[in-house]
Amino acid sequence: MTNILIRYGELTLKGQNKSIFISRLIRNIKFKLHSYKDYLTYKKDTKSLVLELSNKEILDDVVNVLKNIFGIYSISIIELVNNDETSILNKTLEIANSIPEGTFKVEVKRLEKSFKIGSQDLKIKIASNILINTKHLKVDVKNPDVQINVVVKNQGTQIFTNRIQCLKGLPVGSSGRALSLISGGIDSPVASYLAMKRGLTTSFIHFVTPPHTSEKSLEKVFNLIKTLQKFDTSDFEFFVCDFSDILTELMHIKEESYRITIMRRMFIKIANSLCTKFNLKCLITGESLGQVASQTIESINVINSVSNLPIIRPLITMDKEEIIHISKIIKTYEISILPFDDVCSMYVPKNPVTKPKIFIAEKQEENLLLEELITHTINKKIKIYIWKDGELVEKQEKKDKEY
Ligand code: ATP
Ligand code: MG
Repeated sequence: MTNILIRYGELTLKGQNKSIFISRLIRNIKFKLHSYKDYLTYKKDTKSLVLELSNKEILDDVVNVLKNIFGIYSISIIELVNNDETSILNKTLEIANSIPEGTFKVEVKRLEKSFKIGSQDLKIKIASNILINTKHLKVDVKNPDVQINVVVKNQGTQIFTNRIQCLKGLPVGSSGRALSLISGGIDSPVASYLAMKRGLTTSFIHFVTPPHTSEKSLEKVFNLIKTLQKFDTSDFEFFVCDFSDILTELMHIKEESYRITIMRRMFIKIANSLCTKFNLKCLITGESLGQVASQTIESINVINSVSNLPIIRPLITMDKEEIIHISKIIKTYEISILPFDDVCSMYVPKNPVTKPKIFIAEKQEENLLLEELITHTINKKIKIYIWKDGELVEKQEKKDKEY
């Protein structure tokens, strides 16, 4: 039997909510490891979870899945023995024999107080037993090559030498459901990932303006979402909104420098409306302060003023370099840098306003037919895809009824 110890990390700090968080995490783990379920048994306690694998061959695959699940702090491959001195000494010696020549240290935690040997004494016994029976190891308590950890618990003693760091964060779904505005760029996929890290399940919306934006660009966004899906465990929607009619109308804005600002306000209005219909609690965008002219505090204020829901901007204080670093780790970078046609590329004014004012934006909008067009777009111009069996498939039947 192979065992993996899964540490909950930050979850253990969550007071009364702890059990809800832990159940959510276990649900997410079970979901992700579904295809291995016949070989797995779950044993939980308040600080950690032990996963028993009846087939050693799946160990690497299971570890790789666990490394991509939010809410797991770290994992260790552990040996489990009964709480008796001989078993503990034998197993630690066996492990010591498998370690290459070098230095070691023993750490003991005695959580089961009925175990009669104190942790200090047990530590000395284990280390002496190893030193007497091996020739290739020396003790180094400050900077050992290997640390042998022994944790005496009520259900048995856990012994391990490795600690694999995982993603940390909170289990996806434990903070509710959000709608992420995703473009084909580098930033918004990273923003979605960071939102998931804090426990938000994310649905996505992407605005297109065919024929100015191509099928290839849309395909890129599909691929970005598929890549991000590996961090989520719930069903989610992907809304593809044809924004052409509104964009054509926005060409009539008198104050050209306000075009981008007003376009963003329209994005947010449509997104708000979908959130209400689909019971999503907040919006996510990939904006970063000062990155481009339209991402200033004043601009954020003018955009926020049309939203009834909080807009979360996980990248707001990040530099481009930091964002790219994450996008490379999560493997969205390679997709994001492929060429794509942006909704606004053909529409960007020469000098976009950097310090827009709400009243000017409202004044510009007053002269246009935006409310009607927004309703029309929401009712007729949105395709909904849902995640099913590893693919995004178009949701057909309910679409007309819902709107
Ligand atoms: P990104 O790399 O995410 O495209 P960006 O730095 O290019 O971001 P902008 O183009 O100003 O920034 O867009 C700001 C945010 O608005 C994006 O991060 C994204 O959340 C949203 N957004 C932009 N274009 C679209 C689109 N076509 N569909 C959906 N959301 C979009
Ligand atoms: Mg962009």
